Amino acid sequence: MKTLKKSILFLIVISIFVGCTHKAPYTNRDQLILISQEEELALGESSYKKTLTESKVIKNTKDSNKVKQIGEKIAKVANQKDYKWEFNLIENEAKNAFCLPGGKVVVYTGILKVAKNDDQLATVISHEIAHALARHGAERVSASMLSQGIQVLGNIALSTQAPQYSKTFNIAYGLGSQYGVLMPYGRMQESEADEIGIYLMHKAGYNLNEALKFWENMSEGKKESIEFFSTHPNSTTRIENIKNIIKKIQNK
Ligand SMILES: [Zn+2]
Repeated sequence: MKTLKKSILFLIVISIFVGCTHKAPYTNRDQLILISQEEELALGESSYKKTLTESKVIKNTKDSNKVKQIGEKIAKVANQKDYKWEFNLIENEAKNAFCLPGGKVVVYTGILKVAKNDDQLATVISHEIAHALARHGAERVSASMLSQGIQVLGNIALSTQAPQYSKTFNIAYGLGSQYGVLMPYGRMQESEADEIGIYLMHKAGYNLNEALKFWENMSEGKKESIEFFSTHPNSTTRIENIKNIIKKIQNK
């Protein structure tokens, strides 16, 4: 009975939103997104401010300048008029980085141990920016709204004050140090971010082969569990996919 109720709700919701499907940039994949860009930007802004006040932001060092320089180079080719780009390096051992809607990029110092040169750092920054461009967070929030049968029908307006949404949002965007760079998104979104990320790197003039090295470094010493495999491409699959994307670009 419960399942039936859920599927009816699902159908109603789908029929309401069927007129506004979205397409992912570069890959043209159809997406179901139930929150508007404005709502997404507002949530992104408030999560970003919170992250910065709760963290140790590193400023005016060689590393923080490098994050900024590389980030700005990729932002330029990402070509997003509505984005207000910012790039921050935060003191945190986790191998993590994320880009919030609107172009707020945060890199943790932990990832600098894995990204051994500028091209490799460009790999992870491009990958995170790709998640934002493709609105993967909004897609995950939408999926989670549907699965929770949230009151999408009566109250579609998300407010930044609504804690139940900001929690979903933070998880969907991979915030919080318990989620590594590999953790927050599903398999399909990960490959899509890899693909878009490689295009961005290419446009910005970085060495694409270093992307392969970056993901090799990421997987080194990491015990990839069965659970991890079930939702994420394992590093071998990921590296093979990236090789194919690079080939495609080079044959153009
Ligand atoms: Zn990712």
